[in-house]
Amino acid sequence: MAVPAEPSKVSKVAITIDHAFVVRFVHALDERLTDAETYLTELDAAIGDADHGTNMTRGLHAAVIDLEAAPDRGVAAGFAGVGRSLIRAIGGASGPLYGTVFATLGRTLPQDGAVDARAFAAGLREALHAVQRLGAAVVGDKTMVDAIAPGVTELERRLGHGDDLAAALDAATRAARGGAKATTPLRARKGRASYLGVRSEGHQDPGASSSALVFDALHAAATSPGTAADPLLP
Ligand SMILES: [Mg+2]
Repeated sequence: MAVPAEPSKVSKVAITIDHAFVVRFVHALDERLTDAETYLTELDAAIGDADHGTNMTRGLHAAVIDLEAAPDRGVAAGFAGVGRSLIRAIGGASGPLYGTVFATLGRTLPQDGAVDARAFAAGLREALHAVQRLGAAVVGDKTMVDAIAPGVTELERRLGHGDDLAAALDAATRAARGGAKATTPLRARKGRASYLGVRSEGHQDPGASSSALVFDALHAAATSPGTAADPLLP
């Protein structure tokens, strides 16, 4: 009699976007931003006011503390809480912009239960639109939109082709990093860097760079039990 084949050891466990996912994501982003703090601040020193790295780590430390103190509020409320923490702790221009990303996820994701990958991608698309409205920025303005837009588009495309969430977020992270790197030759048209005019050319945008790390952290959260940070940008 034939022996049934053992289930494949490499078969993937479907990742659920639940409270634990939000917790893994916030820890992963905190870790990545802490690793990249000096790098992000150097980028901001070139075309801004040299505080992006410290602002972002301060915001994520606050989000970790808030999330750990809170009970399981569900995915949407969890992301909304992250948004509030970032708005409170980051300040400047990045606080409201990053806060808007997560507040929009909190407002647009299903309010009860786990969230599926398609609904999550739709929430990120809404978050991109909200950031674009707030900053009046389009792709090519040398802002965080230059990383988020290609990241969201690639996530949607890969999910549409049947990739699982981890694979789709892996591809989305590469697209977001590519978008961040592609800001280097651009002249800034929005934000503080735009005051520099031609002198903003030749520097990678700090906000696009940190936004690429958001996708990397989402990918880590989708890869149980989590993956180590990729080598630092660029
Ligand atoms: Mg700054």
